[in-house]
Amino acid sequence: MGDYTPDVHSSQEGVLPKQSKQTSDSRSQSSVLYHQLRQPPLNIVGGRGSYLITDSGQEILDATCGAAVSCLGNSDKRVHEAIMEQLRKVPYCYSLYFTNSAAEELSQILVDSTGGKMSRAFIVSSGTEAVEASLKMAVQYYMEMPVPQPQRVNFIARKQSYHGNTLGSLSVGHHVGRRALYEKILAKNVHHVSQCYPYRDMQDGETVEAYVARLAQELEDKFQELGPDTVCAFVAETMTGTTLGCVPPLPGYLKAMKEVCERHGALLILDEVMSGMGRSGTLHAWEQEGVVPDLQTMAKGLGAGYAPIAALLVNRHVVDTLTQGTGAFSHSQTYQGHPVACAAACRVQKIIQEDNLLPNVCEMGKYLGQLLHQKFGDHPHVGDIRGRGLFWAIEFVQDKKTKEPYPPSKSVAWTIHKTALKPEYSISLMPGNGGIDGINGDHICFAPPYNCTKEEIEMIVNRASRVVEEVLGN
Ligand SMILES: *Cc1c(COP(=O)(O)O)cnc(C)c1O
Repeated sequence: MGDYTPDVHSSQEGVLPKQSKQTSDSRSQSSVLYHQLRQPPLNIVGGRGSYLITDSGQEILDATCGAAVSCLGNSDKRVHEAIMEQLRKVPYCYSLYFTNSAAEELSQILVDSTGGKMSRAFIVSSGTEAVEASLKMAVQYYMEMPVPQPQRVNFIARKQSYHGNTLGSLSVGHHVGRRALYEKILAKNVHHVSQCYPYRDMQDGETVEAYVARLAQELEDKFQELGPDTVCAFVAETMTGTTLGCVPPLPGYLKAMKEVCERHGALLILDEVMSGMGRSGTLHAWEQEGVVPDLQTMAKGLGAGYAPIAALLVNRHVVDTLTQGTGAFSHSQTYQGHPVACAAACRVQKIIQEDNLLPNVCEMGKYLGQLLHQKFGDHPHVGDIRGRGLFWAIEFVQDKKTKEPYPPSKSVAWTIHKTALKPEYSISLMPGNGGIDGINGDHICFAPPYNCTKEEIEMIVNRASRVVEEVLGN
């Protein structure tokens, strides 16, 4: 680390689809600060179901719901109506002075969905903000215990994880490309241990139990190194998102990590910004792991992209400590509990229930996994296929046997993403790189909407396989 390795986002020369002269001309004069300053992205003018429509009429099958966001697709009229209804009632009120019925209802839905184990919701506008709030909440919790523990200032998180892009959340995360430029100003009280990454890190002949025990021992050692009573929280994505590429936790892994935290009185923060709210097949990804976090973040699927919204759910015992302490969370934001965003998310969550979408996530997810294994299992440059629910990734390698990755300079994942946008494929795939050590490793992720059909799953896998064939051969 230390050296500035640009995110591959910004080191790419384009294989962008051809655009009409008129649109690219008008866009070269755009006032938008695009991610790629010299390369305007496609301009989306419409959405229909799983498709995004560009200004030149190209219909792109969005196989990833953007960043695992648009889980109901792009045109659910029921959500439009709920948003309009709230706008007519009241668009905004300031949460320091007032509450509103949409925020009340959404919080109740979220608390109920945990069986009351998490007892309050703190609603903000992005995953990053929810993560920042969780870090501050953890620190405040220890300050307000009957016997305060102000020495608990260390956080332990995991390598190749992503928790957001503000300085605090970036410090907790470990996306080397996104951190590099800011390394010198990132927080020094965050320490990182290994991911649970069986494809590369489980040793020959090692059992799942032994591997999990080894990871738990690494966390224990980190606690000992820092001083067990100086650790505030262990932060992890329940199922790792795009930085590592859709790796589900091994059985018993999160339980073992939680045991280490409990032994030393530290909190467990589970970041479900990407894997939560149904993406993994259950509303909360932790439900499948037999653990309950002390703090939990959620965002992407929460509002399905109809509004920017995120939440921090707080375990009852943490709420009780603050209630008996100062009685106030020492943190707030202007758009907290935004009525329109809350109304959109309420409707989205009710639709997931009404339309019985979680069983569809499990069923279609299983089918997606099957088809990916069928199409890519024997591909000489596919090393691993993994996922859960409707959240799957394939990892590319130069050599299947040695698992040798492609050189980062080849930008395999980003080339696949760009190739996929060509009119002859018209599919949006989510690329990721650096999964192995922050620099090496290429994968693409799939995260279709919860209401997708068998036909759409087949179309996604077929188109993706043609794209991979163009880029890497077959
Ligand atoms: C996307 C993501 C974030 C950041 O959320 P934003 O809404 O982009 O701020 C945080 N944590 C995880 C696990 C994510 O996937």
